[in-house]
Amino acid sequence: MLDPATVRNIGIVAHIDAGKTTTTERILYYTGRTHRMGEVDDGTTVTDFDEQEQKRGITIYSAAVSCPWRGFTINLIDTPGHVDFTAEVERSLRVLDGMVAVFDAKEGVEAQSETVWAQADKYRVPRICFINKMDKIGADFEWSVASIRKRLHVEPLVLQLPIGSSDSLTGIVDLVEMKAVYPRDSDGGALDVRDIPEELLDAAEQARGEMLEALSETSEVLMERYVGDQAIGIEDIRHAIRDATLRHELVPVLCGSSLKKIGVQRMLDAICDYLPGPLDVPPITAADAKRPDVQHQIACDPDGPLAALVFKIVAEKPVDLCYLRIYSGTLKPNSRLLNAVTGEKENITRIVRMFAKRREQLDRAGAGDIVAVVGPKKVLTGHTLCDPRRPVVLESIEFPETVISVSVQPKSSKDRDKFHEGLTALQRQDPTLRVATNVETGQTLLSGMGELHLEVMVQRLRDDMNVDVAVGSPRVSYRETVSTGAEGKGRFLKTLGGRDHFAAVRVRIEPRRRVSDRPNFEVSSSIAPASLPKELLESMETGIVEAAQSGVLGGYPVIDWEITFLAVDFNEEKSSELAFENAARAAFYDAMRHGNAVLLQPIMDVSVVTTDEYFGTIVSDLNARNAVVRETQVRGHDRVILADVPLAQMFGYITKLRSLSQGRATSMMTPSHYAPMPAAEMKALVG
Ligand code: GDP
Repeated sequence: MLDPATVRNIGIVAHIDAGKTTTTERILYYTGRTHRMGEVDDGTTVTDFDEQEQKRGITIYSAAVSCPWRGFTINLIDTPGHVDFTAEVERSLRVLDGMVAVFDAKEGVEAQSETVWAQADKYRVPRICFINKMDKIGADFEWSVASIRKRLHVEPLVLQLPIGSSDSLTGIVDLVEMKAVYPRDSDGGALDVRDIPEELLDAAEQARGEMLEALSETSEVLMERYVGDQAIGIEDIRHAIRDATLRHELVPVLCGSSLKKIGVQRMLDAICDYLPGPLDVPPITAADAKRPDVQHQIACDPDGPLAALVFKIVAEKPVDLCYLRIYSGTLKPNSRLLNAVTGEKENITRIVRMFAKRREQLDRAGAGDIVAVVGPKKVLTGHTLCDPRRPVVLESIEFPETVISVSVQPKSSKDRDKFHEGLTALQRQDPTLRVATNVETGQTLLSGMGELHLEVMVQRLRDDMNVDVAVGSPRVSYRETVSTGAEGKGRFLKTLGGRDHFAAVRVRIEPRRRVSDRPNFEVSSSIAPASLPKELLESMETGIVEAAQSGVLGGYPVIDWEITFLAVDFNEEKSSELAFENAARAAFYDAMRHGNAVLLQPIMDVSVVTTDEYFGTIVSDLNARNAVVRETQVRGHDRVILADVPLAQMFGYITKLRSLSQGRATSMMTPSHYAPMPAAEMKALVG
């Protein structure tokens, strides 16, 4: 079992094209090799990895992969590239302890990185920066460092300098050791550590001075030595860098070129030396599963009761792999755990550590570690598995209302089974995705959080399951509700199967205020229990809940309501469950009509980042889309627009924004809330 002090759970974040994939490949390559070397004794032949093998390595890397390095285990956690999927991004930020931000040395800090950076701030994740692509023409190290200070509002601590730049990049200067580091050959695995070249010595001395000065501001020990001109040891410097990083006072900055295999190994060193392990982060707060108002502080303790968060499910044949972060306790195979969210017990049959090219079965895994398990049947992403004696919920699961839907169909009927399998797998991985089948048309409807969300889901269906699907055009998911309280009546009278069925029901409906994403409705009765058999009351409740699935305006789900049964006409001979169910349904619709039913439309929380020159154009375009601009901010040279916009107005916005700003502006969009539609628009939609 790993000593938590030697574990580093980290994620890599980058703007698209900054080099995240290349950097990850290099990491897997170098760390995969150290592992193999350790295995030479077992008789495993060490073969050279060719590019193709590296490619294969990367395809296995889907959720988290363990990378052994210098006696540490770096668990590399995949962070989704699309900032739109807030839930997915936030979940990955929860399970990691530290982050590497990769930047393109020619572009510096770009908008998307700012967003992820801000999200990481929320979880207080310590970070280091890697300025990649130093081999590119136009690469500018100093300017990139300045952009970190300016756009991310943090104090960069430069730990390295590039040796040469663009075509002539040959290595890096390590300012901590005051050495020049070069790859020995084109493989980059072996390093040559030499004296700093003459012509760089002055610059290196100066940069080291600046580094020590900044560090001594954060460390008293260093300050005394620095001021007193005493010798400062390498380990002292490393300690000071680590402390300042964990306290968020400074952000170490490294540089190199993943493509040219320069600087990647020193980045791995920096991850081990400067980023936190599970013992360095504060205990996680979890809710007691039995008493949600009680909270537990869960510290990283292998001897504590088990608590683990399921952060990703990867559908594999024949069984799913379920990725866990263990927060407390020690997990063993063949154990039985409680899923604190569903209340069901689950078996863990196997525990596996995922490496880039192989997996290893474990006989135990302890607090702080990230592993995959096999066995659980009914877990979803976001669920908590724990010791039944201390049931806790690590992440509260809210199922937000979906706002958009699209019909999907396999193009060939022979793919039908694969198609349904793929949909089931997608749903388990991403609980914000809904799948429904229209019983009458047989059509499958995917519902989700936005246009991009559904596009990516359809793409995964195509890529992962290799199913060619036909996709309809996206439709807004409207909702219905009542605007005032009202009464409604329903009657049912029919002769069926040789007997009369009769019921009459009177109800009152009231609108309810929404406070969270949870389903928000209630059915109650003010009828004396003695005057109505229990089965008939239950039939009425069934009728109401069913009726609410499609309202009176456009057949959209009815939300945010409460119904009270006021009175019934009950007759020993003629009353039946069937009659009461139908009468209740009719009463619900009648009450809705009297309660001024309205259509609700999803409003999206939209943020756009743009340079000054396109600001006006973008704002007027948003206004034309009925946006309510809540706030505008200035961030360096950029402007940020925060607005509420009806989803119906936002189809194809990403493409439009690109053309409005010549590709310079970026946007993000997440569902915010449902709001009543203006009367004229409602009329146009439902007549
Ligand atoms: P991602 O989108 O962040 O995953 O970026 P990729 O790793 O896919 O890289 C995007 C492009 O940049 C690819 O064409 C890479 O070959 C290239 N690239 C990545 N790292 C470097 C580098 O260090 N130097 C140069 N010149 N190109 C790089």
